[in-house]
Amino acid sequence: MNLNDPSLLRSRCYVGGHWVSAASGKFFPVVNPASGEEIARVPALAADEARQAIEAAASALPVWQKRTAEERAEFLKRWHRQILENREDLARIVTLENGKPFAEALGEVDYGAGFVDWFAGEALRAYGETIPSPWPGRRILTFKQPVGVCAAITPWNFPLAMLTRKCAAALAAGCTAVAKPAAETPLTALALAELAERAGIPAGVVNVITGPAEVLGTELATHPKVRKLSFTGSTRVGRLLMAQAAPTLKRLSLELGGNAPFLVFADADLKAALSGAMLAKFRNGGQSCVAANRFLVQKEVYEEFAAELAQRIAALKVGPGFEAGVQVGPLIHAKAVAKIEALIAEAVAQGAQVVTGGGRHLLGGNFFQPTLLKDVSPRMRIFAEEIFGPVAILTAFTDDEEAIALANASEYGLAAYFYTQDLKRALRVAEALECGMVGVNVGRVSTPVAPFGGIKQSGFGREGSKYGLEEYLEIKYLCLGVGEE
Ligand code: ADP
Repeated sequence: MNLNDPSLLRSRCYVGGHWVSAASGKFFPVVNPASGEEIARVPALAADEARQAIEAAASALPVWQKRTAEERAEFLKRWHRQILENREDLARIVTLENGKPFAEALGEVDYGAGFVDWFAGEALRAYGETIPSPWPGRRILTFKQPVGVCAAITPWNFPLAMLTRKCAAALAAGCTAVAKPAAETPLTALALAELAERAGIPAGVVNVITGPAEVLGTELATHPKVRKLSFTGSTRVGRLLMAQAAPTLKRLSLELGGNAPFLVFADADLKAALSGAMLAKFRNGGQSCVAANRFLVQKEVYEEFAAELAQRIAALKVGPGFEAGVQVGPLIHAKAVAKIEALIAEAVAQGAQVVTGGGRHLLGGNFFQPTLLKDVSPRMRIFAEEIFGPVAILTAFTDDEEAIALANASEYGLAAYFYTQDLKRALRVAEALECGMVGVNVGRVSTPVAPFGGIKQSGFGREGSKYGLEEYLEIKYLCLGVGEE
């Protein structure tokens, strides 16, 4: 494994400041998607053990929420330092269990650590207000108070950043947290728990549990002591969790699927658009909810864009994430490979053309060739569904109206990208796109300082930025009598 500090690789859960196994003795394997080899085994906790984690978070809450914002910020800064001091080891764990190229894993550690740093700062800025009163004898004030115990259910594609962006915000606000990472990538989450412990974050403030998603998810979504649930994952599971959370009226943040359009207008700087396209499509091998899913290209530049994009795609180096120069790692599992294969087969049968790639990679296993399909029609399933892999699809458009209509012809509304050099068009199109985030002349928008989130079937709520803290705060209104009415 080659970790500088092998003790970062934990194979037990972190509950109430203790490292625990399942009482049943059950566990499940974590597999390296590049080789199929087992890396470690982690506990398969049961429902009552999830409840214990919730109880631990509930017990830690009164003291944690009474700490000053400055004290909470200090704990977060220490956690941040621990993460950066162990940057390479964390990135190794990310690459091992997720498969992404090591350089990208390092990038994720920095991005993920950025949330801890950001929310250490935001902890200090949970301001209330005074509101001009309609009554001479009363004053109106608002306070911000922590929501309470929070649950965080995170996906495998950014195992580090998705956890810090929820838990750091929760802790900054004065909440305590129970996190359940994806079964594919629990080791990164457990390493983060280890570093939280080393940072001195008190027992019970952060808990990490692993086990069957449905069992633990149901507990987190239904337990009355959990006051908020933040979920990143599929729209299907998001809907399920929302329904499960309804009887206890939990606060929710749902960051669900995406189907980002990437528009290239004829007046675009094509070189910039190509670089942006590669970044927006192939980061994490396309396994990102903000990945460009549909390239919509104005017909005047369609063939040129297709030819140049194909060249860049064909030049991508595919391989295990630890190999030097690798730009695209394996897909997460065989199911993902089969899904993409089926989407391509169906599209080709309906008239799409393979420009480059098109199938499994010679390396075998979960490796897939970076692929470009052109002449994809909006009626094809590959246009409507989130591809979640290294496959770019091209569709031509004629004018702005058609571009906007095509871009919005999706049930999702997370990110969108477009390239133009016309300022008026930039504003008009940005306003018309139905999504939560727009990149204009850029292929990447994520940063801890900006609000991340979607609309439509991509969910609701914002993470990162000052809004990310609000998700973990309640507003309490105080009406204060100060004299005669
Ligand atoms: P993906 O298809 O990208 O794996 P999922 O929505 O299935 O997306 O997974 C995202 C997270 O949701 C993971 O932590 C996973 O374990 C969890 N999850 C999956 N199914 C359920 C469920 N029925 N209840 C709660 N959490 C679930």
